[in-house]
Amino acid sequence: IEPLLEVRDLSVAFRSKTGNVTVVKDVNFSLQPSETLAILGESGSGKSTVALALMGLLPKPNGRISGGSIYFQGKDLVRLGESERRKLRGSQMSMIFQDPLSALNPVYTVGYQIGEVLRIHRRMSRDKIKNAVIELMEQVHIPDARKRYNNYPHQFSGGMQQRIMIAMALALEPKVLIADEPTTALDVTVQAQIMYLLKELQKTKKMGLILISHDLGVVANHADRIAVMYAGHMVETGKVEDVFRNPAHPYTVGLMESLPTLHKHSTRLSPIKGSPPNILTPPKGCAFHPRCPIAKDRCKDDTPLLNKVTEGRDSACHFYEEVLDND
Ligand code: SF4
Ligand code: MG
Repeated sequence: IEPLLEVRDLSVAFRSKTGNVTVVKDVNFSLQPSETLAILGESGSGKSTVALALMGLLPKPNGRISGGSIYFQGKDLVRLGESERRKLRGSQMSMIFQDPLSALNPVYTVGYQIGEVLRIHRRMSRDKIKNAVIELMEQVHIPDARKRYNNYPHQFSGGMQQRIMIAMALALEPKVLIADEPTTALDVTVQAQIMYLLKELQKTKKMGLILISHDLGVVANHADRIAVMYAGHMVETGKVEDVFRNPAHPYTVGLMESLPTLHKHSTRLSPIKGSPPNILTPPKGCAFHPRCPIAKDRCKDDTPLLNKVTEGRDSACHFYEEVLDND
């Protein structure tokens, strides 16, 4: 099948006082309809930057895509003009963020805000918009949707606010939804409810879902495939069960070892010895080499590329065979 989204050699650079800094380097992945791809990494690994690049929302004027392509249904988004990008945003690709309250406007009712995107993109009468909004609120299971249409954001709990954000993101039935740490700001029970809601909506609407997360538990429970990022690079990709059972990169091994049990709620990545590199001064060669327990001389100057390990499985480690459990 034709992928919904295909990202090839994507790089993102930021302009800083000292020159251009590459924060995402040669990232490759694809997304199929109805698939959930998790991008996993510590903060600063570049995972949110990848999401913003996909959406065409890199901070201006300092952030820009410095190389590569993002094919969406055959079109390279990197080469589209801003007005075409804007049309796609919201209608074909939407995004939800960690903190719903900062994304909602406190002075407008939620009904008005959910309807905003319909007013911009669709020619619909006021009554039709109102009915569509109430239907959306019902789809995300906001109780008493009709009554709550005229409530303001602060009158909802954090979980309900995130449901409102999801309703807004889904108003135009996008084909791709990007969720950047969608449950991090919520308590554990509500986290699970929001994840199940996202999965339910994904199924009925056959959306591709990109789930950006640092939470191994969320990823293990909800993703089909996983891409692990470290210092702006993708270091391992594969099916979730394969990567969790038998990681093919020393960094992923470290992440898995930091996990007491996969079934514990909301397991945070407890870092591997040392800390991630400063993106302004990344180490030469493999960016993980200062922390890697099996690093060798070659790793200090030869940057490993993402290479096929087995079918559907890639690793960016010269010595992945040493970490892979082969029996
Ligand atoms: Fe470790 Fe070398 Fe593999 Fe990098 S390439 S992860 S330093 S063994
Ligand atoms: Mg982030």
